[in-house]
Amino acid sequence: MLGFCSSPRFTEHQTTLAHPERPDRIRAIWTALREAGFIDSNPFPDFSLDLGPLPKAKHKAVELAFGPAANKWIASVHTRRHIEYVERMSLLGGGILDQGDTPVGPESYEIALLAVGAVLRSCDAVMKGEVKRCFAAVRPPGHHADPDRPMGFCLFSNIAIAAKYLQQAHGIKRIAIVDFDVHHGNGTQACFEDDPSVFFCSLHQHPHTAYPGSGFDWEIGVGPGKGFTKNIGFNPGAGDDEYLSVIETQVIPDLEQFRPEVLLLSAGFDGHKDDPLAQINLTEHGFERITRALAAQADHHCHGHIVSVLEGGYNLHALGRSVVRHLIGLGG
Ligand SMILES: [Zn+2]
Repeated sequence: MLGFCSSPRFTEHQTTLAHPERPDRIRAIWTALREAGFIDSNPFPDFSLDLGPLPKAKHKAVELAFGPAANKWIASVHTRRHIEYVERMSLLGGGILDQGDTPVGPESYEIALLAVGAVLRSCDAVMKGEVKRCFAAVRPPGHHADPDRPMGFCLFSNIAIAAKYLQQAHGIKRIAIVDFDVHHGNGTQACFEDDPSVFFCSLHQHPHTAYPGSGFDWEIGVGPGKGFTKNIGFNPGAGDDEYLSVIETQVIPDLEQFRPEVLLLSAGFDGHKDDPLAQINLTEHGFERITRALAAQADHHCHGHIVSVLEGGYNLHALGRSVVRHLIGLGG
């Protein structure tokens, strides 16, 4: 059984005009999942997007309700200064954070707490056996957010907070995070680079050619965490076969060795060939193959437990179609 955690309120995080990380991303995902038969609800009746023929869901997803995360969970990863900065900028009516690419609006702090709430609810649903796997379609994304500062469209590190929550609220000892967003998950890495209880693996366009310029293969963790961070950079033009080959030969053996109890996915779809922010040539079918390979590992080691969290993906058609394929790969 597959869970789906999202909210129409994720469109209320207002970014600037023409910003790629925009509210319509949530509308596109909802539309695609409804057309594919995963969900019935339709909170955006006025939104239309011609997605072409879509594969059909074998089973409906369970739509899960949730509220905002408690502040203590945000503080399990982020500094008080960081949290108060995001809150204050929202209260002031919005502004531009980081180096100018991370806008917030008046609702952004509240919606960022709700995004974390969706991810924590997904963790609960999987751990309590309500669903085997869960996909959280949230905005704002999280994997660039550093413990002490927002960065790269990201306010709070949704996936890092999920890992802390699984450890502290559910007693999980070993967690693997696989990040296939086209950009390096630098924020997640910063949270766990000295922590051997979290294996973090990021697959991304090579830092010589892509934002944020980190994620070299020599970044393997520090201190007791050495060997529990893995970075794999792909050259522009790489596609499905290159990704699948690396997953089979490098990622799966590491997962076999680490034996995670839960697998978390930072699911970014901006590696799609039609995405405007990168030069990787994955197809939506490739996202399904990647997901299937990782889901098989989760079946092997962690009772199938996967919590998948949306990161990037900025071409609405590619995003909607790829998310459908991702959910099919998760077994839906
Ligand atoms: Zn990205």
